[in-house]
Amino acid sequence: MADHERDELGRQAMTAIDTHAAEIVALADEIHQHPEIGFQERLASRLLAEALSRHGMDVEYPIGGLETAFRATRRGRGTGPTVAVLAEYDALPGLGHGCAHNLIAASGLAAAVALAPLMDQLDGTFQVIGTPAEEGGGGKVKLIDAGIFANIDAALMIHHDRHITAVADAYPGDTSLALADLKFAYRGRATHAGSNPHEGANALNGVIKLFTGIDALRQHVRSDARIHGIITHGGDAPNVVPDHAAADFFIRAADRDYLETLVEKVRKIAEGAALMTETTVTITRPSPTNYDVRPSYVLGRRYEDNMRAAGLEVTPRPPTPGTFSTDFGNVSYLMPAATGSFAISREPIAHHSTEVVAAARSDFGHQQMLGVSKAMALTALDLFLDPDLLARAKDEHAHWAERYLDTP
Ligand SMILES: [Zn+2]
Repeated sequence: MADHERDELGRQAMTAIDTHAAEIVALADEIHQHPEIGFQERLASRLLAEALSRHGMDVEYPIGGLETAFRATRRGRGTGPTVAVLAEYDALPGLGHGCAHNLIAASGLAAAVALAPLMDQLDGTFQVIGTPAEEGGGGKVKLIDAGIFANIDAALMIHHDRHITAVADAYPGDTSLALADLKFAYRGRATHAGSNPHEGANALNGVIKLFTGIDALRQHVRSDARIHGIITHGGDAPNVVPDHAAADFFIRAADRDYLETLVEKVRKIAEGAALMTETTVTITRPSPTNYDVRPSYVLGRRYEDNMRAAGLEVTPRPPTPGTFSTDFGNVSYLMPAATGSFAISREPIAHHSTEVVAAARSDFGHQQMLGVSKAMALTALDLFLDPDLLARAKDEHAHWAERYLDTP
């Protein structure tokens, strides 16, 4: 397809988003007004699924055994790549939309409004996938396990980044930390702490030795490691030797392999703590492991060009690794994936804050969401029209570790 045809389709995509801007923003605001935490996003997923259906997408809802997940599909005229846009919509407990996922949800509708009418002229399949519970719960991991991501060639998303608008175009930009959630339950033997302490086995001591053991480990871990935990149960009364005590830890590292190395070290410490206190420990991993993000810089460069084409002001920034964790990482291990980061505030603000809650329903936040949604739609269009772009992204993905980490 000639360049001017690509430009014409791009113009149509952006115009469609402008035409339906009021509806897209209203969806963002309604989700903002009714924040729902992970796996409980019944209103958000229903509103978005219904809107996608109205705009010509074939919607399957629910999917993958998750009540609040859906897949909306629009097939093109022939065979070609499947490009998926991922929509998150969960809120933060107690805070509301402090991560602005209401705007991500709306970007799914914006992308559909832009691309669904064009698919009759394109080879391939366009999808919007509703992915619950990003803020803990690993909805995307559960959908991967259910096979929902099996036949997708590239995945695109948007996410606010406070006052910054950019897409990572070089390593280590937009990488993140892999994360494992470990819960420890110690069991001992209760006894009166004053009259016959020698008959007890102190489960709280097991937890305390776990903490001190992990603190000793800190000297011997890579600088990218993060290990942080809380005591969730420490006993019931000072005069009773606790027969059960529990702790919850997050372990993070720059890559999935080193994360598992750390998990094994912590597991040994936990078992050692049980041995020294004559207690037993049960270790569980209640939510799926988040892999580190391996961004596609090939797609990122095109996405950022498209941001400029959509009229966004891109913030210059050096490529730095992220210290957050997300289930988008697991998606990025499977296929080329890129996230368009966009400013929702002109002033610097913090993540997961009341400032984000306010910015997520501000005029500026709305306009930025519409702009980055246009850039995402243009990038999807490029993936349909430019087989070389997808081939380069797939080649980068296949060799990501050797290219950027010097390890296979
Ligand atoms: Zn988020």
